[in-house]
Amino acid sequence: MIIGSTGLFVPGPTNIPEDVRRAIDVPMEDHRAPDLPDFIRPLLTDLKKIFQCTRGRALVFPGSGTGGWEAAMTNTLSPGDKVLASRFGQFSHLWIDLCQRIGLDVEYIDVEWGTGVPLEDYANRLAADKQHAIKAVLVTQNETATGVQSDVAGVRKAMQNAGHPALLMVDGVSSIGSVDFQMDQWGVDIAVSGSQKGFMLPAGLAIMCVSEKAIEASKSARSFRCYFDFKDMLAANDQGYFPYTPPMPLLRGLRVSIDRLLTEGLDNVFRRHHRLAQGVREAVTGWGLSLCAKDPVWYSDTVSAVCLPAGFDSGNLLKHAYQRYGLSLGGGLSEVAGKVFRIGHLGDLNELMLLSAIAGAEMSMRDLGVPVDAGSGVSAAEEFYRQDTRAPLQLASSQ
Ligand SMILES: *Cc1c(COP(=O)(O)O)cnc(C)c1O
Repeated sequence: MIIGSTGLFVPGPTNIPEDVRRAIDVPMEDHRAPDLPDFIRPLLTDLKKIFQCTRGRALVFPGSGTGGWEAAMTNTLSPGDKVLASRFGQFSHLWIDLCQRIGLDVEYIDVEWGTGVPLEDYANRLAADKQHAIKAVLVTQNETATGVQSDVAGVRKAMQNAGHPALLMVDGVSSIGSVDFQMDQWGVDIAVSGSQKGFMLPAGLAIMCVSEKAIEASKSARSFRCYFDFKDMLAANDQGYFPYTPPMPLLRGLRVSIDRLLTEGLDNVFRRHHRLAQGVREAVTGWGLSLCAKDPVWYSDTVSAVCLPAGFDSGNLLKHAYQRYGLSLGGGLSEVAGKVFRIGHLGDLNELMLLSAIAGAEMSMRDLGVPVDAGSGVSAAEEFYRQDTRAPLQLASSQ
């Protein structure tokens, strides 16, 4: 038994705000009720605002981010189609793996973990592809395994410079609703997210936006799909319904989660995440440790992967933090297994909550003999949070 609240600081699932949790706790309802369209239509319209999307369509499939990947690829591409991707962490790796398993021809660039989408390499490959064999360009906006953020707008610019007509697809599972994402402005054709990260809900929904161009591509794409077919979903959504039984409680929760994000204001949401993240980075510096992200241009505002000194196993640290302090941190995945631990700082989060995670990580490291000074990370974060008086948290709560 854990007394008090447990500290959930994995980069998804994230903490669920009380009003969202209450919204999910509803009696079962008829998903064919005559008044359901009055709920579904504005839900999907308002969802587009979170993606800063005015032209395309929002789609919500039962599933998770992985299902969103599958929906994106199978609806718009045919077996053997070439896609351009890059791999720099477990999530960009898994997306490539999914593409290969559904029969796509993935041209991928392996780059150092701790860096992100290699813009120059993308530009060169796109310029060299005179025949336009590449049908889609993939960007993992936020690599959750390494805490690395990539430049989606930069990829669009590279595509424009090369005059390349491929679809631009973005994995925004751990970024959309937390950091800036501009579907229209960046010319994104498919953006994939999930319910359990920035949307502050339980896992269970693949949340996407698709451009008109992507919808057009879906009319001739020949990959097998059934459950995730855009055609069925769009036709049912046009009527204000779903093609099959939707998880209504999650949709009721999504309504409140969208309202929260819009009430705080997207700019404030992005500023809050940046500020919270900056405090964590100050703590890491205070500890004398370094991030997995190699350079500030790659720093993620939703998750920080912290490198432990050689000789210490982050798996042990995680186990200790959980058992001794009731604190869940993220572990190292694949190539960085044992080497990094991650602090998720996205979703329904404020400074004091995050300070508890920093303190818990600090105490756990000291318990295991990692050479960090008592209070070094906590005080660095505290001083950062104290100094910045333009706290958007206050703006939001005074509204
Ligand atoms: C969590 C995550 C996924 C996988 O999503 P699931 O909801 O676990 O299927 C994909 N990409 C990124 C960047 C993620 O953070």
